[in-house]
Amino acid sequence: MPSPSDRAPSSPERMPSPPGRAPSPDRAEDGPRARGCEERGFFTLEEVLGLPGCPGIDDLRGRRLAVVECGHAIPCDPCQWACPTGAITIGDDITALPVLDPARCDGCGTCQPVCPGLAIFLVDMRRDDGRAEVWLPHEFLPVPQKGETVLVRDRAGTVVGEGEVRRVRRGARLDRTTIVHVLVPEELAMVARAIEAPR
Ligand code: SF4
Ligand code: SF4
Repeated sequence: MPSPSDRAPSSPERMPSPPGRAPSPDRAEDGPRARGCEERGFFTLEEVLGLPGCPGIDDLRGRRLAVVECGHAIPCDPCQWACPTGAITIGDDITALPVLDPARCDGCGTCQPVCPGLAIFLVDMRRDDGRAEVWLPHEFLPVPQKGETVLVRDRAGTVVGEGEVRRVRRGARLDRTTIVHVLVPEELAMVARAIEAPR
């Protein structure tokens, strides 16, 4: 997979919207959310659900979708360029927040490893055993192994339960990002955002 710099022009002047995509979204509502995150160090679930990159709970039912938890007006957009279906739109203003169109997201996960902010998660609600599969970018050691039980943490870093590692992906094709697939109780699908592997 090419690096983001291979795909993305480097200045706003050179940043046309990908063909057929929407113009930049209105960012007027984003200030208070971003300030709340800066003050406490993380977004609350309620704030995440209000982000334009977050699908609704109804959208997630029975599907695997990207959850783009990107709420700061930073100059960044590789997710927009990486998405093969046009499900993520940032538009001509490179500091606009990414907007996810759940109808166009097929849950491929291509956007996840290109995000330098580790702000993209995949949530898979297609199982029928009361568990959800969450794809988490993981930049800590140790890297967990398939089949291991790991501690699951929320956005604040609080342990909220345990999960089972279903798969671990890493390597140059993922831009050297390790992606850990973790099975968690369904009610933690939008809560589990980090893991701690056994040492
Ligand atoms: S998961 Fe795939 S289709 Fe969905 S937003 Fe990411 S790259 Fe696009
Ligand atoms: S790549 Fe990540 S940090 Fe950059 S705009 Fe997309 S979601 Fe936000």
